[in-house]
Amino acid sequence: MTPENGEVRGKRDAPCVVDLRKGELRIPSYSVRVRLRASLVRALAEENKLTPRPDFVLQLTSRGKLRIIAKRTPPPPQLSTPLRVVAVDENSRHGFALAAFDFGDRGCKLAYFEKLRPENHGYRRQLAAALQSYASAPTEEGRALLGQLLGQEPVKALTPERAREHAALARRKEKRLNNNFVQRVTARARELVREAAKEGRAAVVLVDPIDSETLRGTGLQGTLLRARRALENLCRYEGALFVELRASGRQCPRCGSWGTEVRQTRRARVYKCRRCGAVWDRDKAALYNLTTTYFERLRKGGRGNEAVLAERALAALRKWLSKHPNALEY
Ligand SMILES: [Zn+2]
Repeated sequence: MTPENGEVRGKRDAPCVVDLRKGELRIPSYSVRVRLRASLVRALAEENKLTPRPDFVLQLTSRGKLRIIAKRTPPPPQLSTPLRVVAVDENSRHGFALAAFDFGDRGCKLAYFEKLRPENHGYRRQLAAALQSYASAPTEEGRALLGQLLGQEPVKALTPERAREHAALARRKEKRLNNNFVQRVTARARELVREAAKEGRAAVVLVDPIDSETLRGTGLQGTLLRARRALENLCRYEGALFVELRASGRQCPRCGSWGTEVRQTRRARVYKCRRCGAVWDRDKAALYNLTTTYFERLRKGGRGNEAVLAERALAALRKWLSKHPNALEY
């Protein structure tokens, strides 16, 4: 690989050369010269700036595509402040909710919050199934169902062959949108972790996985699982700590009692505590509770320094919440 500064990484006589100055990939022994997309060149240049620098492996996929894989295993971080905790909650309603809490000598703050929702494939899936069944057995009943889904006009000239093609297209589109979602989640998490590294913060990524029972039949199971594995890989690559644990957004972030749902909006499930009167967005509370659960576990089971850090972090979180009593509200 030849980064933009001109120095050569790897062997000069390697069978394949990635030249980022010229934006091309060369395989000299076959006189192959492939132009690389500008976005790929930018991404590779960015990866080359990391310390330690990644190793790159070129892979030819079974579909005949060239893939560049970056490998890197920095040592796991020492838990100390300044620290960033990225909390990720998987749920069937919003896909993922993400928050970043930053801890320093002067307490903590909520640096980031977002809900990331995967595409809803209900209609697309129903349509693909109807098209597929019409393709294999073109009945009047099937045609009528497609008429309801697509409108009468497009169905008039529909042949079984066309129906099969369209069904395949719909399935491919679903797959592509799901892949985009996984990429969106990991890209956001990567930004948050890299931002932390730039500020000299150690980073921990906490993931609360959804139990697969809840997802049965929603078609989301595979997508969320892939996103979780991608986050785990990302942590290994970026030198962040990856921890899976569970917490509930139904529990009051202030006093720990179980709340009841008082309202549902398009964007939030709003809960209220009958004991202390606190009101919160279930997704936000889930992330706050996930973070306190992590530090409580660390306080009980951690070695000396970690237990002290956990104790301070818990105090900082409580102080932050009492100073910003509305921060977890919708
Ligand atoms: Zn309460």
